[in-house]
Amino acid sequence: MNKLVQNLFFITLLSTLFSVSDAVQAHPQKGKPNFVVIFVDDMGYGDLGCFGHPTIRTPVLDRLSVEGQRWTNFYVAASVCTPSRAGLLTGRLPVRSGMASNRRRVLFPNSKGGLPSSEITIAEALKTVGYKTAAIGKWHLGHLKKYLPRQHGFDSYYGIPYSNDMDFVRGSPRYKKDESESKSEYYNVPLIRNEEVIERPANQKTIVKRFTEEAVRLIGEYKEEPFFIYLAHNLPHIPLFRSKEFEGKSQRGIYGDVIEEIDWSVGEVVRALKKNKVDQNTVLIFTSDNGPWHIFNTHGGSAGLLRGAKGGTFEGGMREPTVIWGPGIVKPGVVTEMGATLDLLPTFCSLAGAKVPTDRILDGGDLSPVFKGKGVSPRKTVFFYRGTDIFAVRHGAFKAHFKTRPEYGRSKITEHNPPLLYNLDHDPSEKYDLSKKHPEVIESLKKIVEEHRKGVKEVPNQLEL
Ligand code: MG
Repeated sequence: MNKLVQNLFFITLLSTLFSVSDAVQAHPQKGKPNFVVIFVDDMGYGDLGCFGHPTIRTPVLDRLSVEGQRWTNFYVAASVCTPSRAGLLTGRLPVRSGMASNRRRVLFPNSKGGLPSSEITIAEALKTVGYKTAAIGKWHLGHLKKYLPRQHGFDSYYGIPYSNDMDFVRGSPRYKKDESESKSEYYNVPLIRNEEVIERPANQKTIVKRFTEEAVRLIGEYKEEPFFIYLAHNLPHIPLFRSKEFEGKSQRGIYGDVIEEIDWSVGEVVRALKKNKVDQNTVLIFTSDNGPWHIFNTHGGSAGLLRGAKGGTFEGGMREPTVIWGPGIVKPGVVTEMGATLDLLPTFCSLAGAKVPTDRILDGGDLSPVFKGKGVSPRKTVFFYRGTDIFAVRHGAFKAHFKTRPEYGRSKITEHNPPLLYNLDHDPSEKYDLSKKHPEVIESLKKIVEEHRKGVKEVPNQLEL
């Protein structure tokens, strides 16, 4: 072997050894991927730069959407907070767990109910295969001790247990629709560590920052073991708050400031994943619990080209801007197939090698082949529930509305016979009714709903307790 070849041999050997040790370092968690779900509150389909907002700057999420996947047909389980969260964490439509109601749409500080202990959450499913689990931020699945996150498979909890506009202090000025910021003292919401109230009213100006610091701290603490972090920001639900550094930063006004601080927060989480060398072994999912709250004018977000908003069953209420990132696992691209938060439990179980519960009906499927760029989405259908009632159904490109109702207020239900029919691939804004042209499609959609209804049993309603 001459000297040059010998040197090349050693260089190759050294670089092989280094890359092996890098790989070992990058996967200290025995092949089980970490999951970080960042679930924001009331952000609309059109509120991120990568989903077309003209003035809100979201450089971090824009970058993640290119390095990872941007999902354009991703849905939540309901158009308001409590049932949407129940659906995400259990992989089951909220009507099955009693977490949906026609009378009280979400849980309130005087509610007695919550997510039943018989439900299996993502955290509980992942615990069976050795995951560390943490819930940070908004819970809204029952604030009484027996319903808080540690009773549902999470090792720790740090957050506000319901919406940030609850516990309104009598005599405080009502929320304005102008560009001014509210005050934390007007909303006597508690900040909880595990089960103890540690601050009341929670200082909401620093809440995004503090939830971020908690996530960053836990990533460092958990790095040797597989982990699931559920980071559910209370914002941009009204009242809007942002920390000093983000005041007046966005061209979009106060709502833009909040979204830009959340984008910064996502960047800090990614930085922590990289710093702790677990980024190659993590799947991060960013989405919103429901559409924008349009009754608050510019304090609410935008559903972009979608019709409708929070509280309703048009697309704007339940289709969410979704970014799925995981450089060692997720193949970059734009995904126009359907997916839903209901799919996360079976997807995470599949990636983690955990058993999917088989003693109950699940409403989701395994999206991991789509994450990896190796298969198609199992989701072909989305049911649009309002409370316990099905208002609309999507199957493939077509969506039929059997009933519609304005999102808020003492509005009446309008029954449609024939149902309104839209082709969402051609007409995402639900403008052009095709019911007269495609009666056969309506018949097939009706059959899907009939079949589905047969499998839904009545259970005690938790929101009416
Ligand atoms: Mg919400």
